[in-house]
Amino acid sequence: MPFRFLLNFFQNNFYRYYKKHNPRFLSHSYLTKQKFLSFYRCEVSAWIGVQNNNFKTYNNRKFHTSSSEYRQIRRVLQQLYPGGKEVRYAKSIEESIFVTSKYLKKRIPVYSASLGKDELFSNFDLLIPSKNSDSWSIVSVKSQVSFKKENLTELAYQKLVAEKFGLNIEDVLLYTINSDYFYRKKIEVHKIFIKNSLIKKIDGEFQNAIEICNKYFQTIHSKTLPKNLETCKTPIGCSNKDICFPDLKDGNVFDLREGKSLSKELYKSGIIYLKDIPSETELTHKQLVQVQCERTGKEHIKIENIERFCRDITYPLYFLDFETINPAIPLFKKSKPFQHIPTQFSLHVKLSKESPLLHHSFLLRNKKDPRKKILKHLEKLISSTGKIIVYDAVFERRCLNESVELYPEFKDWWEKVSKNIIDISLPFKSFHYYNPIQKGHASLKAVLPALTGLDYNSLVIHNGGEANQEFYKYLTTKMSWLEKKKLRQNMEEYCKMDTYALVEILNSLEKLLI
Ligand code: SF4
Repeated sequence: MPFRFLLNFFQNNFYRYYKKHNPRFLSHSYLTKQKFLSFYRCEVSAWIGVQNNNFKTYNNRKFHTSSSEYRQIRRVLQQLYPGGKEVRYAKSIEESIFVTSKYLKKRIPVYSASLGKDELFSNFDLLIPSKNSDSWSIVSVKSQVSFKKENLTELAYQKLVAEKFGLNIEDVLLYTINSDYFYRKKIEVHKIFIKNSLIKKIDGEFQNAIEICNKYFQTIHSKTLPKNLETCKTPIGCSNKDICFPDLKDGNVFDLREGKSLSKELYKSGIIYLKDIPSETELTHKQLVQVQCERTGKEHIKIENIERFCRDITYPLYFLDFETINPAIPLFKKSKPFQHIPTQFSLHVKLSKESPLLHHSFLLRNKKDPRKKILKHLEKLISSTGKIIVYDAVFERRCLNESVELYPEFKDWWEKVSKNIIDISLPFKSFHYYNPIQKGHASLKAVLPALTGLDYNSLVIHNGGEANQEFYKYLTTKMSWLEKKKLRQNMEEYCKMDTYALVEILNSLEKLLI
């Protein structure tokens, strides 16, 4: 105990001394890796983030990999470089650099390292010492199957920071995920990752990274919003939309279905709203329907096509929806990275037009592979007559196909019922029905309010992506009993709403035919 006390005392005082003699580290105007990436993606977004001193606004769009999943990927990667030390729970940037420096001196792998010099700072998944020289390798891991241009620029920035700090960088390694890997008995760390040595490719990006840094500091010191439509992919879905485009109302050109560069061109030429698009503009059929609806303010209904679609629907009706998880590092044996494994289903059943609506559900409790259980339940609940109504048949079919491949005892049942699947998204994806409220989208969440007036606003979980991330967290992180109970309740409510939405959409389609 006295030794531990002395060690802590020494460390704390040394840290204070270090801070005092490195005044630049007291600066709060660091360019961090997140800010660098944010600026790379959209200069305006980074400027807004700096002005508001709000980290969240740097990440103006939601990303698919949750922090708990990313932590798990890093933990698995660390097994390739054992014997290292993790820089964890530092109270400040300065402290994390201090702790990293301490471990660097020991020449051991440093996990979750932090380096900074002058105004530049970066986190690193791993820093590993060279065996033959005093140099180091930067190691990064991404929840992707291959690397992108953005990754090279990000790694060039990391190399710049590490070299400024005084490290000699021998190699820059990016590990991506081998999506062909099949998890049998134990995760084989050497097989699940693909190692990419990028040092040569990064040299070509190095100058670009320096220029981005210089431009970043010029831009953030500007007092006015640096309007730059060129770097704006689209304001739709961006949390800064109201700052950049304060006057943009519904029905604007950025809502144009698959508009991409056309939306930008129209906006730049002064055409802000869909209804004002000149008639000579070349548009697809769906875009034309959308523009027409904006002009009239009415829905578009191709009644004969909807009638043809509804003709195939026969009782009993099974409204089915799965929620899945698809982590990069599979949780269940006999699955691959990114494979969607169903962990939950909701099933509304209507045996005949007059019969009451019944509801059945399943939600995994523990980390046991749920696929066999799900098949067992569904085999009991879904008969070989009638129709199974889903929204996006490809996804639901794939979940069941892959599960049945693993448990061939359900093959007979699956062969009988799979032909009964009806994809209720088709009339919307083909624009046989379109309502301006949909804003160019044909997803369940866009169609439901347009057709029925119902929505997901009162729920805690609003979409499949959120459900996926929340349930992964449930399975992999420590949570109190109460937190787990609440999360399960939210998951149940969300999935139930998905199939209830299918019931209501079908009712509304049938009403259109009366
Ligand atoms: S609205 Fe466009 S320009 Fe503004 S922050 Fe978002 S992406 Fe960038």
